[in-house]
Amino acid sequence: MNPSTAELLQRIRGLADAIGRPIRLMEVCGTHTMAISRSGLRALLPPNLRLLSGPGCPVCVTPVDYVDKAIALARRPDVVVMTFGDMLRVPGSESSLEQARAEGARVRVVYSPLDAFRAARSGSDQVVFLGVGFETTAPTVAWTVREARRLGVSNYSVLCAHKLIPPAMRALLDSGECRLDGFLCPGHVSVMIGTKAYEPIAHDYRLPCVVAGFEVLDILRGVARLLEMRCAGLAAAENAYERGATSEGNPAGLALLDEVFTAETTVWRGLGALLASGLALRPAFDAHDAEKRFAPLNVPPPREPKGCRCGDVLRGACLPDECPLFGRTCAPENPVGACMVSSEGSCAAHFRYEWVPRETTA
Ligand code: SF4
Repeated sequence: MNPSTAELLQRIRGLADAIGRPIRLMEVCGTHTMAISRSGLRALLPPNLRLLSGPGCPVCVTPVDYVDKAIALARRPDVVVMTFGDMLRVPGSESSLEQARAEGARVRVVYSPLDAFRAARSGSDQVVFLGVGFETTAPTVAWTVREARRLGVSNYSVLCAHKLIPPAMRALLDSGECRLDGFLCPGHVSVMIGTKAYEPIAHDYRLPCVVAGFEVLDILRGVARLLEMRCAGLAAAENAYERGATSEGNPAGLALLDEVFTAETTVWRGLGALLASGLALRPAFDAHDAEKRFAPLNVPPPREPKGCRCGDVLRGACLPDECPLFGRTCAPENPVGACMVSSEGSCAAHFRYEWVPRETTA
């Protein structure tokens, strides 16, 4: 029989006691961040155990100049930019896609890249889909690009900013800025890349990595296992999300990614340029690469919102309410930084579910 929430919490308290020092685990997924905040889990954990949020929100890690390029494209009279809703309010250097739309730029929210692909097939506008996200969303985008080439849909292209999770995990550890005792690895990314993708990280950094699902019980199981591994001095990658992820991942999805994309150096908000951490379209798909098709996409040098500490939040170097703008000038209805915009952003999660404004506590 699977342990209950109460049993898992008791086990976690016992293990944290046995370790007897501050413990820092990082969840590398915005969906985990949201689930942890929404469930109030932090308040139930032992005081020496801290859960930190990492760079796992796709919108949050997308750099400012990408938003600037998307806005520049949306302002072209021949282009319709299609995107997931989370990207609309992300601040660029001067504006956001939402503001640009209010000023007449053509920006449409879609629920899937398939919607954008279908719109291109049935119309004559140049449709540019904003390809943002990790190994989870990239295969669907890859499929649309491959189909566009096969069917000759010449008015469909992607502005590509897909990113890969394992290089970001390595970059965090290499920086030495944030001492960690383990990674709670993302469930849905792991469905695609498999548990074995974390084995080199566990080995190279002597750090336990556990893949977990998104229910409270899943997260507690993952945390308990990380602590057990820490106690036993075990540095390995394990799967606590057996109903979703496997060791090998999804071979068909990975083959599709490899057919359409190639790994490239890309810029992450907060982490900078990381070698082989992004996905670029292979040259065979140049006709569907918005960056090449509409070149040169000249935008002024990017400007981060003044005072915003999203970069520090994404590296686990600062908690959301340690940013001086949190809850003052930056709130979900008026976000200054990307981490407050996205439904998976750490600042948004903290604001909605965990933050108690001082005047309420007085
Ligand atoms: S509170 Fe707002 S400005 Fe501060 S780090 Fe979070 S998103 Fe950025």
